[in-house]
Amino acid sequence: MKNLIVANWKMNPASLEEAKNIFSGIKNGVEGTNNEIVICPPFVYLAELKGTALGAQNIFYEEQGAFTGEVSGEMLKNLGVEYVIIGHSERRKLGETNEMINKKIKKALEVGLKVIFCIGETAEEREAGRKNEVLERQIKIGLKDIKLVDLGDRQNINIAYEPVWAIGTGNNCGVEETKKSIDFIKNLVPNARVLYGGSVKSENSGDYIKNAGANGLLVGGASLNAEEFVKIVKSAE
Ligand code: PEP
Repeated sequence: MKNLIVANWKMNPASLEEAKNIFSGIKNGVEGTNNEIVICPPFVYLAELKGTALGAQNIFYEEQGAFTGEVSGEMLKNLGVEYVIIGHSERRKLGETNEMINKKIKKALEVGLKVIFCIGETAEEREAGRKNEVLERQIKIGLKDIKLVDLGDRQNINIAYEPVWAIGTGNNCGVEETKKSIDFIKNLVPNARVLYGGSVKSENSGDYIKNAGANGLLVGGASLNAEEFVKIVKSAE
């Protein structure tokens, strides 16, 4: 099973020119890697970037129609997009529920997109000792009635364990604690690749692969710096 290293650019950068620069820096730097690389730029750049697998940062659960401002799975698939991030905590904060996430995952699989399904506990939930309960609920509802499909060496669903308190804070989750959560998730969803995300940098990235049992990484802020992202990819080889 290849490690999956995902770049989540979030709502960055501000121009297509910058997006192309970062993209080509990553594409050239990761040539020959034995990891699987997916870049997830904002929707508006997806049609313009070519040469590395692309992922969208969101999807809507309905088909084409009167849904102003939304983007459908069919549109993404027809554009050649391969993956979609679903359930990112930054979207959950905007009101996305486990039930909506379940509908989005179903739609993505229906149109043939592979899913990067994000789960993770908040600081309050962690402090209250409710981490596993939260992860289990997110998985049970998020994957309700979904048949995981075998793609040979893995499933069509990749799970990104992203503690909310570790995202964009510089406060990455310790390797031992991450390992416990990854083991817990793998127990609930056998054969899925489980990624770690949350303030990943080249100084800590290799540890998650080598010592926490992660099958990949979801990288936010650090993926906007091509040189740093390439170092992260290399650390996972
Ligand atoms: C993310 O966007 O999923 C993420 C983990 O961000 P960062 O690496 O900046 O913490």
